[in-house]
Amino acid sequence: MKVLAVTSEIYPLVKTGGLADVAGALPIALAREAVRVRTLVPGYPAVLGALEKTRPLHAYEDLQGGPARLLEARAGKLELFVIDAPHLYRREGNPYVDSEGKDWDDNALRFGALAKVGAEIASGLVQGYQPKLVHAHDWQAGLAPAYLRGGPATVITVHNLAFQGLFSSTLADALELPPEIMTLEGVEFHGRIGFLKAGLYFADAITTVSPTYAAEICTPEGGMGLDGLLRARARVLTGICNGIDTNVWSPRKDPHITARFAVEELDLKAANKAALREKLQLAARPDAPLFGVISRLTEQKGIDLIAAVLPDLAKRGVQFAMLGSGDPSLEDKLREAASRHRGSIALFVGYDEALAHMIQAGSDALLVPSRFEPCGLTQLAALRYGTLPIVSRVGGLADTVIDANEAALAAGVATGFQFTPVSEASFRRTLDRALTLWQNKKTWRRLQQNAMRSRVGWGPAAKLYASLFRAVTRRVADRRAGAGTQAAKGASARRAAPRESASTIGQKTSTT
Ligand code: ADP
Repeated sequence: MKVLAVTSEIYPLVKTGGLADVAGALPIALAREAVRVRTLVPGYPAVLGALEKTRPLHAYEDLQGGPARLLEARAGKLELFVIDAPHLYRREGNPYVDSEGKDWDDNALRFGALAKVGAEIASGLVQGYQPKLVHAHDWQAGLAPAYLRGGPATVITVHNLAFQGLFSSTLADALELPPEIMTLEGVEFHGRIGFLKAGLYFADAITTVSPTYAAEICTPEGGMGLDGLLRARARVLTGICNGIDTNVWSPRKDPHITARFAVEELDLKAANKAALREKLQLAARPDAPLFGVISRLTEQKGIDLIAAVLPDLAKRGVQFAMLGSGDPSLEDKLREAASRHRGSIALFVGYDEALAHMIQAGSDALLVPSRFEPCGLTQLAALRYGTLPIVSRVGGLADTVIDANEAALAAGVATGFQFTPVSEASFRRTLDRALTLWQNKKTWRRLQQNAMRSRVGWGPAAKLYASLFRAVTRRVADRRAGAGTQAAKGASARRAAPRESASTIGQKTSTT
């Protein structure tokens, strides 16, 4: 089965978060399920620089304000289509913001073009290539299902509902969005153009990255204004937990760590802990527990909760290795704690893949106190390295960590610690619980072994995506065939076959 994925990030070429990890790993895992994915990505400098076997496929005289080329290329195992549009994508650094952290003014056009080209490829632009299904990732690809109404089946995956791609409705003409879809039953979201909303409305199926997050986004608390639409489309909404690349995150093969180890060799973690301490200038206190943090430094990630507990815990002898960047005021808070507790709290502000591996290998526990977390990837890597995740019970964190409560301990299945609600008090209580259990070396070791044996690879998710893709393709083909038969019988064919959503969301009922 051929699938065209549309994404603005793909590991290892361009990454700002988990979306890139998923877009990079899923095609490789899906190949084992006989699903062949080609991925359409913007030609950022980092992407163009990594391409092999490039071949031009199509030339645009004017793609949103300038000439562009569609390229076919490979990058490692990834099969790509790349839009080389210098006026849109040849900008260094973060894909979405300028060097001052401000959104690029033309983001609507940049990602509108991505979705448009995706829809065109799906409609036969490239000779000899016809995908059965389009897999759009997040708001950046959200308009693809809107452009494609009536083409191949479409699935949109929500990696984070907080990023919705909202733009002024005055851009409708530039984006070639016809007035009939610039409505509540379409692209419009509170008077603006909603890229993600459009995808959620028009796609044949919606997935998100964990079952708990799928349920959370259907509630007013977690739905960020889109819960009504998501409830109306609940029948086609599925949560599938992400995996991680178990070759990249492998304590037995990791080139970034001092001592590689298997589940029977957990004693070797001590050497990684020592190396991490040395690297971050933490005091050499082999018996002190060491907690790691690898995160965007934002409120979503609960970094303010970490800042709040740091001084106390440092005084109680806990050490911290923190890596991340983000909100300047949170960076400052962590920096201040680090400078007050030198030797106990270390902070590296920035993005550093190698250090992320060292923290996973050398820490005793990893803190992820997110307010919401669609799936989360760092806790999965932590499990694999025998680093016990201490997480809030939300989204994918709830689905992937087994809390060390009495029942789970008695059954011998615990892999970490969860707390709820997401408050400082409950976070503190759970940190205390973890520190108490830390004293019991035998039990802690048992948890580490359970953690390392957790299934965190892409295998199970790839199977679920593959069967979903096949089911959606069949459903759409059946519906089209049904619509065709009806039209032949002289039934009203004023509009294209309505998507399931059309009859359930708006007041206007669809044609019969
Ligand atoms: P997000 O919400 O940021 O996508 P995820 O947990 O889903 O969170 O994915 C974050 C990914 O980015 C993980 O692979 C993590 O290891 C990585 N990461 C986050 N911050 C950094 C950093 N400062 N340096 C290196 N890797 C990082």
